[in-house]
Amino acid sequence: MSDAVATEVRIPGRLEPIIDSIDSFYEERVKPREEQLAHRLTDSAKYLDTDGKLHPELWTARREIMRESAEAGIYALHLPEDIGGGGFGRHDMVFVEERIYEKGIGLNPAMLAWSEGATPRLIWCQDHHREAFVDPLVRGEYTSLHGVTEPDAGSNFFDFKTRAELRGGKWVLNGHKAFITNAFEADVAHVLCVTDPGKGRESFTYFQFLTKEHEGKGFRRGKLFQTMFDDGITGEFVLDGLELDESAIIGERGQGFNIALSSINWTRMRRGGMCSGWSKYLIEKTLERAKTRIVAGKPLGANQGIQWMVADMVNDWFTTRAMSLAVTAEIDDPGPWWKMPRPRADIRKICMLKLQNDEAFQRIADRAVQIHGGGRNDEEQSRQPDRVDRPKPACSRRLRRGATHDDRSDAGPRIADDVPKARTRRTNV
Ligand SMILES: Cc1cc2nc3c(=O)[nH]c(=O)nc-3n(C[C@H](O)[C@H](O)[C@H](O)COP(=O)(O)OP(=O)(O)OC[C@H]3O[C@@H](n4cnc5c(N)ncnc54)[C@H](O)[C@@H]3O)c2cc1C
Repeated sequence: MSDAVATEVRIPGRLEPIIDSIDSFYEERVKPREEQLAHRLTDSAKYLDTDGKLHPELWTARREIMRESAEAGIYALHLPEDIGGGGFGRHDMVFVEERIYEKGIGLNPAMLAWSEGATPRLIWCQDHHREAFVDPLVRGEYTSLHGVTEPDAGSNFFDFKTRAELRGGKWVLNGHKAFITNAFEADVAHVLCVTDPGKGRESFTYFQFLTKEHEGKGFRRGKLFQTMFDDGITGEFVLDGLELDESAIIGERGQGFNIALSSINWTRMRRGGMCSGWSKYLIEKTLERAKTRIVAGKPLGANQGIQWMVADMVNDWFTTRAMSLAVTAEIDDPGPWWKMPRPRADIRKICMLKLQNDEAFQRIADRAVQIHGGGRNDEEQSRQPDRVDRPKPACSRRLRRGATHDDRSDAGPRIADDVPKARTRRTNV
């Protein structure tokens, strides 16, 4: 981390040991694999396999890191201790997440469970799920998928058509789920179904099963959805008369809506550490670029317009990070953060956190792209903003339009031409 950015971050003393262990795990276990697979991580054409899916070599490395990170006590820090997690609250996880994500966009995200790993849905699992599902997921040995969205229903749960019906003591599942992260690799499926239509929030129930056990027997993986992430892991699956026992239900019948929202609240709040880490990463790349790129005989960063853009990036990052810490501290006290249903004020704050992080990160990524300019021929320039803004589709779109900072320079009246030559640098007093 550059000194300019490092000085803004204060880690609470109690978290220093875990932050140190994240740093050493990254240096010893992740970085060497990133170097070995640099040709795939830096070249979009090699990142994916010929069928458009994430290249198997990257999957193998990710799975190895997940398992090793679990052994090192990092991977499931966000989960309660009684299911094998680290028992961290959301506030402390902001520091953990930002430290992991600030390391870039290579294999480092695999150090921490995301929606394809050990998710908070495991908190709602019963004892009989422990050995077959919970333990292997918490140990990073299995990956999972979260089947909620359907081709014709996403934001509104009450449009979902995937049904589970109780017939002769078995639950029979029929439906179609789309835009599912990790649709092709997942060992464990968590699927939200309508079991009791017309009962409002209690209409939904979660089911859990091992995909290999049911592949071709009522469970079929479908086509790839190459989203703007371009990561080759999003797809669909079809349930066609899949039969499951009563024991496949996570939590209780009718509890699906609450479980889904606790999980969605987790992904919302995770934006705090993730966006902070990636914002720092972009600010560092931008500072490096502004200092080394020579335009018209001087470093790009010598121009006050560029300095102001960097100042805006740092300001956006720092204020958003402060907000994430404030909101997560409130959610943790009294906690636990997954308890449902939540008071209205909590829901609002969790959504504010997500909104603020997404919007601020988009502005930061946009400015990083602007300052990196249009020169996209050499590898370093072309890959960094491109790969890092995968998490923000709008930024990808912007990137394809190219830098507009040049247009801003020419859009206004030419003040500089009409005034005596001024000093470009203000002396601070
Ligand atoms: C990369 C990626 C990964 C994903 N991974 C998963 C996954 O693992 N599991 C999963 O289940 N889903 C996943 N999704 C799907 C995602 O959760 C849905 O895209 C999301 O829920 C929105 O649903 P939709 O796309 O059908 O949008 P729609 O429901 O069609 O809504 C479109 C837009 O209209 C807005 N809108 C809808 N109704 C209203 C209204 N009444 N008033 C105003 N605005 C409205 C919505 O907010 C949205 O912005 C993923 C999506 C992407 C892009």
